Amino acid sequence: MLQATPVLSACPDCSGALSMLRIIAGRGGAEYWTMRCVGCGGIHLDIVKPTAARTSGDAGDLRA
Ligand SMILES: [Zn+2]
Repeated sequence: MLQATPVLSACPDCSGALSMLRIIAGRGGAEYWTMRCVGCGGIHLDIVKPTAARTSGDAGDLRA
């Protein structure tokens, strides 16, 4: 199972395109993405957490 992408790419209400309004830095490296639908004008907020998959994605351990 792939990690579900938390970032909305289309409006859940009208499937319209979302335009980025602003990105707010949150706690723990998370980001709050504020997006506005160009179709219905609805505001959608997404919490984008820091990419923790980076550690498990790379199989090789770095050894100096
Ligand atoms: Zn919409």
